[in-house]
Amino acid sequence: MTEPTNAALFERARAVIPGGVNSPVRAFGSVGGTPYFVARAEGPHVYDVEGNRYIDYVMSYGPGILGHAHPAVTAAVESAAAKGTSYGAPTEAEVLLAEEMCRRIDGMEMVRMVSSGTEATMTAIRLARGATGRDRILKFAGNYHGHSDSLLVAGGSGVAQQGLKGSEGVTEGAVADTIVAPYNVVPEIDDTVAAVIVEPVAANMGLIEPQPGFLAGLRAACDDTGALLMFDEVITGFRLCRGGAAEWFEVKPDIWCFGKVIGGGLPVGAFGASREIMSHLAPLGPVYQAGTLSGNPLAMAAGLAQLEQLTPAAYDQLTATAATLQAGMIEAFADAGVVASVPRVGPLLGLFFGPQAPVDFEGAKAVCENGVYERFFHGMLEAGVALAPGAYEALFPSLAHGSDEVDATIEAVRRVAKNL
Ligand SMILES: *Cc1c(COP(=O)(O)O)cnc(C)c1O
Repeated sequence: MTEPTNAALFERARAVIPGGVNSPVRAFGSVGGTPYFVARAEGPHVYDVEGNRYIDYVMSYGPGILGHAHPAVTAAVESAAAKGTSYGAPTEAEVLLAEEMCRRIDGMEMVRMVSSGTEATMTAIRLARGATGRDRILKFAGNYHGHSDSLLVAGGSGVAQQGLKGSEGVTEGAVADTIVAPYNVVPEIDDTVAAVIVEPVAANMGLIEPQPGFLAGLRAACDDTGALLMFDEVITGFRLCRGGAAEWFEVKPDIWCFGKVIGGGLPVGAFGASREIMSHLAPLGPVYQAGTLSGNPLAMAAGLAQLEQLTPAAYDQLTATAATLQAGMIEAFADAGVVASVPRVGPLLGLFFGPQAPVDFEGAKAVCENGVYERFFHGMLEAGVALAPGAYEALFPSLAHGSDEVDATIEAVRRVAKNL
């Protein structure tokens, strides 16, 4: 039997899976062409079914902070799997991960595990409404908070890519209480607002830094009106530094949402807050939430094993790797005469083919839709470097990306940029 090709698998996939994928961006819709089907991954590399090897900057869009198939994570999952995959009863691993998260996040006293970032933000919104007795929520254009109905409107990531204004199938009623404001401008809010939800670093409309005073301004506006400030740290949490964006920017939200890194590549999300706020949640309080697979033993084991590797030295290494990539890419683009900006916040890297990094969704769209990223993406893929197949995504260098991979990446940028 011959091995399947990417094209053959994509054709079979499209027959039985809408668009051939289980998450839209993976279909290569915005960059064109056939997606590579992954056979396996190790360290900084993914290998497709045709045997091609790529230096991977997708890294599952964030979870792969240690690199792929890290031995500590793999061993933890194997050991947990041998003891059973799900029980419907509490386990020690849930306690250990919750304790570790609360230790790292100053001000977060309790945390509830769910199975995705979407579930985390969706439930955190319900919690904020239940805790405040208010209905309205405010989100920022271009921020992505997963695909629950009330949060899809003006979403980044794949939502932006498809040019959808939210989504068909979402009722007027579901978004009637969602206010959308431009990123990086402190909005006027009143005492009808239950929560302001924000990506403290916007990483789903390219990478956009919060302007000085933006997050502190949100904190003050929430304090003035009694709204709860909610940081969607699904990307920034346990990635920017030990304490995530709250520590990095020295602004504390009322509610934190997590995902990606905390699952070690298994399906996990979580949200946390003070004991007082979390006491509104069932079974302590009247705000309902539940999950058959919440706190799943494999996912908890993977998350714990991953966090154990994330020492202060690890964060220094991640940031150094991203800084080297940033400097090399800026130089390579400049030498090739390609207009580009490479924003960076600690270990997080972005790429815009415009003269300066945008500060909001309008600015991001203008650059992301100029058609350059698509050509760059395919050039890089041909050169053995896998970037996200969409201009609105960030780059995720991992601890497994060593100087060999960084040098090879910069060399590839240099070659591809010359032919743009
Ligand atoms: C990925 C992401 C989500 C959604 O998480 P899923 O696990 O894909 O449901 C929410 N918020 C942000 C900031 C994200 O990047």
